[in-house]
Amino acid sequence: MTLRGRLTSAFLVVVLGPVLLGAIFVALTVGAVSRERATERLDHAATTVSVAVGALCRQLQTSADAVAVVPAGERRAVADQLVARGLATEIHVTDHDQPSLGRSAATVDPATNGRQDCANPGTATTAPVTALAASAYTGDVTVIAAERVDTALLNRLGDAADVAVALGARVPAVAGTTGRYLPAEPGRPLSLMLTVPASGPTVRYLILLLIVLVTAGAAVIAARWLARSTTRPLGDLAWAADRVANGDLDTRVPIPRPDELGRLAGTFNRMTRELQSYVQALTASRDQLRRHLAILGDTLSSTHDLDRILPVILRTAMAATGARAGLILLTDPADGRLAARCGVGLTGSWDLSPAELSQRRLAPGRGVLGRVATTGTPLRGTSGRAPDEPACDSYLAVPICAPPDEDSGPDPSVLGVLALYDRLDGPVFEDADLRTLRTFAGQAGVAVHNVRVHEEAQRLSLTDPLTGLWNYRYLREVLRREVERASRFGRMLTVLVLDLDHFKEVNDTYGHTAGDQVLGEFARRIRIGLREVDVAFRQGGEEFVVLLPETDAYGGVIVAERLGAAVREWPVPVDPRRPGLDDSISISVSIGIAVFPEHGATAQEVLDAADEALYAAKHAGRDTYRLAERVSPAVPEGHLDAAAATTGGPQPPRHGRGR
Ligand code: GH3
Ligand code: MG
Ligand code: MG
Repeated sequence: MTLRGRLTSAFLVVVLGPVLLGAIFVALTVGAVSRERATERLDHAATTVSVAVGALCRQLQTSADAVAVVPAGERRAVADQLVARGLATEIHVTDHDQPSLGRSAATVDPATNGRQDCANPGTATTAPVTALAASAYTGDVTVIAAERVDTALLNRLGDAADVAVALGARVPAVAGTTGRYLPAEPGRPLSLMLTVPASGPTVRYLILLLIVLVTAGAAVIAARWLARSTTRPLGDLAWAADRVANGDLDTRVPIPRPDELGRLAGTFNRMTRELQSYVQALTASRDQLRRHLAILGDTLSSTHDLDRILPVILRTAMAATGARAGLILLTDPADGRLAARCGVGLTGSWDLSPAELSQRRLAPGRGVLGRVATTGTPLRGTSGRAPDEPACDSYLAVPICAPPDEDSGPDPSVLGVLALYDRLDGPVFEDADLRTLRTFAGQAGVAVHNVRVHEEAQRLSLTDPLTGLWNYRYLREVLRREVERASRFGRMLTVLVLDLDHFKEVNDTYGHTAGDQVLGEFARRIRIGLREVDVAFRQGGEEFVVLLPETDAYGGVIVAERLGAAVREWPVPVDPRRPGLDDSISISVSIGIAVFPEHGATAQEVLDAADEALYAAKHAGRDTYRLAERVSPAVPEGHLDAAAATTGGPQPPRHGRGR
């Protein structure tokens, strides 16, 4: 059953039910009242008719008595007079002595059979009553006064009581009438049937039925109108909701009236409009996010350059969460501090160029960023950041963690922090933003980890595992690059070749492990004896090379002396293998020095010159240095003088101290 059908039925039940019940009640009441009134009328009529009949009997009796008491000769005249006055229809005198007197001349002789004696009811039950009679006796005469009972008399009786009066026995009342049977009794010798019309209630019933029918008709019309006006807007709404559910967000419904349904339609239209704008905004941001993700994917797969990867990750994270600004910091493995790597949209003291930004360092454990880096727990909020962090209304910071592997265990190490500032679409960042940002922080973690692994692999392929110095392969690369640079800018480059003296004996005496220890210690002393720009290499075995950029022969000699002293003066502590051996080994080193471009025009020539100088140092007794003798023919004549002039010092000694 439809809503319209239910509404119509309910309305009809609610409206017509009481009307019908009321009508039935009224009909029953009217019927009862009508019956009561008819009964009352009949009661009244019965009394009136009884009184009238009684009066008639008394009148007849009086007439009979009057005739009986007058002298015999006057009876006739008196009787006629009484008949003439209408006190009786007929007066019958029977003189036992003179039967000829007979009855009054003016009267009609009533049939003796149909005469009903007033004093003796029931005497005429066998024949139809035609007259009512009263009799009087004196010794010699019998007087009977009679009144004809005809339609005229009955009508008179009925008019007095406002009912229809008929002679007769008990008969069923005619349809539409109510009757009462009055049997003959003393004082009312006639059997009478009184009837009254029962037309009043029937008319009222018709009026009542008419009212009910009119009410029912009006109720049906009202119910149909109500159901239509209620269900049509609902039907429109259902249709529109169906279309919206199928994706047609342009659908609108007409607003019928400013009632509840009108408000519902208005709200539906507003909801659909907002939904449409939400969907459009979501579609736009999804497209934007897709573009960012495509760029991110391309970047991640094409480069190991963090300076390219991190900004893309940051911009994609900002686009995904609708943040105004963002910052990525990576933990510096050297000191554990957070170093800013890239920032977007930062303001105030953080509105810096990339170069300036990369100088920014934050202490671990302090402020929002420091705590995230230390605890590895994301932080979100509107206040509580340290004063040296970017200014914002709200922030969301998550750790950048290395992807978990078997070595790091369940707690991956924190590589840095990814922070977003000021959500554009709301006052604070939400849980969904946190999940999104964790995803991007995961990407950043993988990227940083990959880059670090890549760098480490490269470093390992270029470094010597025993000493940690660069290896021979890298020496050739760096030497070529440095010679080229020095050549382009007219600068000098000094090459030192170092070889431990009698190292074979160390191995032979203390064993190969102790020899390795000595090599490691020697490399360490070289490293700490050099400037930051100088580079040390292990060429192979116990031979090492040091490149001193921007350094002339004089500077090379100073370094050679310093390194020689650093080796010579502090024996290397070792674990003696056999009893009787010292627990430290005294070593020394021989050094050959060559200068570009003074001793060679190419990398190889300079290296060869230094090797020759080393050989000279060995030959001179070891634990000393020698400066290359050979002068490159490619060097212009004035170059050496100019080089000497730039150092400002005297010509260096061509050899170190002998043994
Ligand atoms: P010289 O003063 O003439 O240089 O004498 P030397 O003994 O140092 O020279 P030589 O070239 O004869 O010996 C080099 C020794 O260095 C040979 C080898 O046992 C040792 N050696 C080379 N590489 C390693 C290494 O990686 N570890 C250790 N323990 N010893 C090495
Ligand atoms: Mg040696
Ligand atoms: Mg050697």
